[in-house]
Amino acid sequence: MSDLDLIQRSKEKALKGERLNRDDIIALLEIDPDSKDAEILGKVAREVAAVVTGNSGSVWASIGVDYKKCAMNCDFCAFGRKWGIVKDESERDSREIIELVRQFVSHGARWITLRTTQFYGIERLTQVVRDIRASIPGEYQIVVNTGEFNETEAEILSGAGAQMVYHTIRLREGINTRFKPEDRIATLASVNSSPLDLAYLVEPVGTEHTNSEIADVFLTAMEYNARLCGVMARVPLPGTPLSDYPQISERRHAQIVAVTRLAAGYHAPDICAHPPSRLAVEWGANVVVVETGAIPREGADCKTEWHGFGLETARDYFTNAGYGFYSGREN
Ligand code: SF4
Repeated sequence: MSDLDLIQRSKEKALKGERLNRDDIIALLEIDPDSKDAEILGKVAREVAAVVTGNSGSVWASIGVDYKKCAMNCDFCAFGRKWGIVKDESERDSREIIELVRQFVSHGARWITLRTTQFYGIERLTQVVRDIRASIPGEYQIVVNTGEFNETEAEILSGAGAQMVYHTIRLREGINTRFKPEDRIATLASVNSSPLDLAYLVEPVGTEHTNSEIADVFLTAMEYNARLCGVMARVPLPGTPLSDYPQISERRHAQIVAVTRLAAGYHAPDICAHPPSRLAVEWGANVVVVETGAIPREGADCKTEWHGFGLETARDYFTNAGYGFYSGREN
């Protein structure tokens, strides 16, 4: 089958609510990102995005709560204790977090993510969720991105006011990380057994990863019913062990985003591209991330928005790509 036939058939499957199989996903990932066929793949993915999202773009605002050394030493993360990147540790308290949430929500963020290092603690995180809910009314969703937890803790987080969990099996989990993949899987299963939704990007994608590895990590997201999916590129941060491997090109990033759009269809209607990319939004992503604070891709605690990318720029990306904008407010 030609690439164009495969792209067309994938669109039809996505719109019928059918998932793509592993072979089709790998074949789409094998299209040269610099080719005309990749542009057609991107255009078709954008058409599917219009249907399954109601043509709506949304912002994921992420607050890095604790700028701390982390004993897990993942090979791509600024916080790994062994890499010596974090010198002066710091942490945002509830008051500072609430002020950031207020700003993000007032500018139309749909998700507010509290991202912590691995051992921040579920009890403390639950209290932050409660504090936010008690202070800031609104339709926004609270997402937690933290360490491992069990079903009981997932229920407690839900009861406190969280709606979603960001959790993944990372590419080369157990090789470029010190985790047992089964421990990460146990947390995905806990999310699935709770009222919380799952957000799960294929990450952190670098030039070192094969198409089969990318397909398998994506299929795990589908297996655990991710409602939000997409692709995060690895940012080669100097001082981390993977920094010699270059970042994937913007076209390759956008191509993988387009493949996740077609492969996820209605199952994960929200598809995110991180770092933000105009091309990825044109090729089917309807979610971008605005982030601040402790960021695993940055060698310092970020006092403002990472790389100057804020809500207004995100809105401009969506408008230029022909999306409406989810603001959570009456406009
Ligand atoms: S990715 Fe998470 S677990 Fe790994 S070093 Fe960074 S904070 Fe720790």
